[in-house]
Amino acid sequence: MSALGIHRTLEDMRAQVAAWKAQGLRVGLVPTMGALHAGHLSLVEAIAQNADKVIVSIFVNPTQFAADEDLDIYPRQEADDLAALQNTQTDAVFAPSAAHMYPEGFATTIAMDGPALGLESDERPHFFGGVALIVLKLLIQTQTDVAIFGEKDYQQLRVIQTMVADLNLPVEIMAGAIMREADGLAMSSRNVYLSAEQRKIAAQLPVILKQLAHSPAPIAVAEAEAKKALLAAGFTKVDYACIRDAETLAVPDANTVSRRALIVARLGKTRLLDNCPAV
Ligand code: AMP
Repeated sequence: MSALGIHRTLEDMRAQVAAWKAQGLRVGLVPTMGALHAGHLSLVEAIAQNADKVIVSIFVNPTQFAADEDLDIYPRQEADDLAALQNTQTDAVFAPSAAHMYPEGFATTIAMDGPALGLESDERPHFFGGVALIVLKLLIQTQTDVAIFGEKDYQQLRVIQTMVADLNLPVEIMAGAIMREADGLAMSSRNVYLSAEQRKIAAQLPVILKQLAHSPAPIAVAEAEAKKALLAAGFTKVDYACIRDAETLAVPDANTVSRRALIVARLGKTRLLDNCPAV
């Protein structure tokens, strides 16, 4: 790996990308909100197989947080993140400020239907507008050839794939597999919010997800059983536990080719997301 360049302005980032492109190099982007863990690093490793130069963006995007959410306390640990990236195939970090990304007078929003409807949007109506806006900005800003998103945020992945197709953006979107802790809990920057007791309960989430995904029962029955099991395990609230069409994220119908099991359950204020292919 060459020395890790840190770019805080668009001009600076673009100059680096232009220099790479002038050499005919293929550029990849891993968008993150920092607080990096092995899940993020696995995306770097995966995209490095498909790009000559890898940019990791670190930006806690305010437009995807509602006023009562955790924007202010979201873990920010840039020095640790940069240290973690030193041992990877990352060539550059793009870490702009919020004022740089959303200057005074910023007025554009993005609205999406299709896979953005329901699930996360039922709980967080502002969320995919904010995600689509920042991802679109990052893709345009970096002029990247390929970008990677984790299946951990499966609905987000489908939203981005759909946006890129709808807007004919000249970028390839890759999907990264979910990285898990030894006990199966999907890695997440928000896992640090969990107390020791909550952390034990959290490990039940992937177990119940697997049962839901493989249940031979009718969908409504399997979903109700999963919800009951989550509450019995100690989760405070179940935002959803469901089987959906893996492409559209709508309720499966006769046209459904593959299905996905998705769960979001809360432990206190912490929302835990997980998903996997369903039979
Ligand atoms: P975040 O920083 O949480 O916004 O996540 C940045 C990217 O990392 C997104 O594409 C996530 O889907 C992905 N990601 C988060 N957690 C994991 C995980 N456990 N395994 C793989 N990718 C992940």
